[in-house]
Amino acid sequence: MTHRLFEGKKLIVASHNQGKVREIRDLLEAYGVEPISAGDLGLPEPVEDGETFIANAEIKSLAAATASGEIALSDDSGFAVDALDGDPGIYSARWAGPEKDFSVAMQAVKDKLDEKGVYEEGKIKASFICALSLAWPDGHTETFEGRVDGNFTWPPRGENGFGYDPVFLPGGKDKTFAQMQPEDKLAINHRADAFRQLINACFKK
Ligand code: IMP
Repeated sequence: MTHRLFEGKKLIVASHNQGKVREIRDLLEAYGVEPISAGDLGLPEPVEDGETFIANAEIKSLAAATASGEIALSDDSGFAVDALDGDPGIYSARWAGPEKDFSVAMQAVKDKLDEKGVYEEGKIKASFICALSLAWPDGHTETFEGRVDGNFTWPPRGENGFGYDPVFLPGGKDKTFAQMQPEDKLAINHRADAFRQLINACFKK
């Protein structure tokens, strides 16, 4: 498959989530690309009514590319728990409520596992999934999905990172994403996995 190459220097990062923007900025640093956040440009946030991470990532990247006239990169990601049939999944941000309080979202995951009577430490498989979409103002998109597998752990541990990081133990590690140093999380996470695919396909070697 032929992919369209990104040949600019300027890239709009179509996200208003500071945690994601920081990680994308760190990932792009080596490529001499200057990321500008959609939040800083005051671009509106589109309604994310897709049914998959990929569909929602494309809605966001296209909205930002069309509104700005520049190439835009979006991230749609979330936390998926096997025993909850993949929830909260594409609703990961919504589970935190209007206050965007992720202690509420993490507690909701634990409560649902307890309601089902399936919670057992070390046995609850979970993943982070990330779709990254690059969109051009003419409507072309290049979209890639990455993931990292591990376990849901309780109680939440660690102060670093964002979102569900304190309840995710990546496979083979004994620290949650929130207990890891940011660079160690970024070496193995779902965003880096999607980013590697994007770089291989759309950036000149
Ligand atoms: P989105 O803005 O609809 O893509 O929301 C994704 C939500 O998933 C975020 O608000 C986070 O709560 C969660 N999420 C995505 N990536 C991560 C991560 O790397 N760590 C922790 N939570 C994440």
